[in-house]
Parts: sequence; C-alpha cells; structure tokens
Amino acid sequence: MIYRDYGVTGKKVSLLGFGGMRFANIDNTDECIRTMIKAAEGGVNYFDTAPGYFETKSETVFGKALAEMRRKNLPYYVATKTFKSTNDAIRREIEAQLKRLDVDAIDFYHIWSIITLENWDARKKEGILTTFRKLKEEGLIRHICVSSHLIQDKIETLLKEGVFEGVLFGYSALNFKTREKAFDAIRAKKLGAVAMNPLGGGLIPGHPELFGFIMRPGESVVEAALRFLWDHRDLSVALVGFRGEQDLAEALSAMEKYQPRTEAELAAVKEKAGDSLEGLCTGCAYCDDCPQDIPIPYYMDAYNHKLLKDYGNSDLKDRLNWQWNLVPKDAGKCTECGQCEKTCTQHLPIVERLKYIKGI
Ligand code: SF4
Ligand code: SF4
Repeated sequence: MIYRDYGVTGKKVSLLGFGGMRFANIDNTDECIRTMIKAAEGGVNYFDTAPGYFETKSETVFGKALAEMRRKNLPYYVATKTFKSTNDAIRREIEAQLKRLDVDAIDFYHIWSIITLENWDARKKEGILTTFRKLKEEGLIRHICVSSHLIQDKIETLLKEGVFEGVLFGYSALNFKTREKAFDAIRAKKLGAVAMNPLGGGLIPGHPELFGFIMRPGESVVEAALRFLWDHRDLSVALVGFRGEQDLAEALSAMEKYQPRTEAELAAVKEKAGDSLEGLCTGCAYCDDCPQDIPIPYYMDAYNHKLLKDYGNSDLKDRLNWQWNLVPKDAGKCTECGQCEKTCTQHLPIVERLKYIKGI
C-alpha cells in the first residue's frame, strides 16, 4: 500500500480508500464488516461514509467494523459528512453519527455536497463554519473538510477560501478536464485531496473501448482507471465504493502491481483523451454561461449516463435529482439561442439533448 500526506494534518492516508456507498447487500452486516476488515488488513486506512448511504445503515456497519479494527489493532481514519447547516441540526446529526460509528471523534468531517457557490453562501449564512470550528475545538471532529461537485473556476474559488483542510471531489478519466483546476487550490492551500467516483459511476468499466488512452497492455480498465488517479501526485486518496470482497481484491491487486508513470507520461496520456470521448460531455464547462442560467454540464452529465448505461428515463431523473439537485422540466428554460453549442468543445447537440430531458 502507498501512503500519502493528507494536506498538512500530519496524517498519512492510504492512496486506496474505502467508500461505504456501494455494498452489494447492506443488510448482510457480516459480509460488509468482513470486506472492511480485509481492506484494513490490506493496508487501507481511509474509510469514508455518509448518513445518506443506505439511510444511515452504512454508518452503522462502519461502527461495527471500526470496533473490530480496534480489537485487531488495525489503524484507520473515518470520514463522514453532514448536509445540515444550522447549529442545532448539525449537533443532532453528529450526536447520532458518533453513536452509529461508535467513536468519540470523526477524523474527517465534511460539509457535504456543495453544488453551487450560491448554496455555499447560503450555508455559511446559516452558521455552518462557526459550528464546524466549535466541533473541532470540542474534539468531536479532527479536521474540517468539504465535498463538492463544483467544476472549473468554481471549485477553485471554493477551495481558495482557506477554511478547509481537505476536499472530496469527483475526479476520473472521464471528467478530469473539468476538475483539474481544483488542484491549483489544493496545492496553494496545502489541502488533503480525496477523489470519489474513480470509475465514472460505472461508465468506465462498462465502456473500456472509450478509455484505451489510459490503458497499458495486459491491464484491465479498472486497474488503468485507478492508476490514472494514483499517478496524480497531488491526490491523497482515491476512494472506491466496494460491493464486496471481489471488488476489494481487484483493487488491492492493482495497487500491488502499480507502477507509476512520470508526470510527463501522465500529461501525454491526458493529451490523448480528447478523441476517444467523442459524443460524451467531458464536463469541461466551456458552455457554462447560459443566459437562462441552465447548468448545462450537469444536464449533459446525466445524458452521458443515458447514452452509455442504457439508462431508463427514471434513472436519468434520479441522476439529475440525487447527483445535481435538478429536475427535467427546468431544461425547458432553454430558448435555443445556440450560444452553448458554439462553445462546446465536444460539439454536442446540447439543445436537442435538453429537449429530450425536458420531455421525460
Ligand atoms: S441554447 Fe439553450 S442552453 Fe444553450 S445557451 Fe442558449 S438558452 Fe442556454
Ligand atoms: S456540453 Fe460541451 S462545453 Fe459543455 S461541459 Fe459538456 S463537453 Fe463541455
């Protein structure tokens, strides 16, 4: 296992992290715990969950597994999140989380899922930062972190505020172009950096033909997708949501075989990406200046999933709702002015795709 610094916290975290959002059967507690213990035995020490994963059951499973790790003297750090903003609501949430997780303090506590800078401003006005700072003074959390779905300049703006010690954000071979700017802030502010969704929500393993640019001969697309992240020198952890022991074994084996590329080699790999992602939105956000304030990259991300995963319309709605807090009908605000299509780096038929989404 490779360990890297989590920013300037003094903590060394495993480059392969455990995400608690994809257990195959959360009600099979023994199997979930067994997978987590095997991960810890394999050197994983960063374990990430959230109250929304399986309606708090993920945190409960984590609590049992962490207790077992303590019994076995296996070191770990636990990360979780809150979507609450007011003092009272956060206090109620963390009290329940500490019980479920069966710990006295949470190592990395995240302000959960900043999707727009407006939403971030609203949460600050409700006093979220004051409460987080107090929680830290009281020893209930060890580090103040944020999870974000912002892209381009917006994620850089959020992180450069200088209030966080680390960030959790989506970064993969599918969307790396849109998130690269986060690393400018990560370096400037010396933040811990945790990448979530390294397999692009299943799109990467489902379509290896599009991701030849990251692969070496004899390597599986999952190994290649993980290596693509691990090669990024500024990344502290790449989180994988393991369904069970088989997924874990594959990732641990990829780590064992891992042979880093040089920075120049990685830059060359990224250069090659353009053509192979044809027809897909890469989330570059060059179109993100719609006069109707339509967050086009988010709608196009959901459409990617429809294209590549044979999504039904209800899945498309769920992706919009759960990932981006959007509804299909708002795609109908488009006046078809055509401005976005002129700037789209992938030359996508954005207007046509928005029309489709509006109609579902
Ligand atoms: S075509 Fe529609 S989505 Fe594109 S910029 Fe104009 S109004 Fe916005
Ligand atoms: S629609 Fe085009 S310009 Fe907009 S984010 Fe996607 S690829 Fe980039």
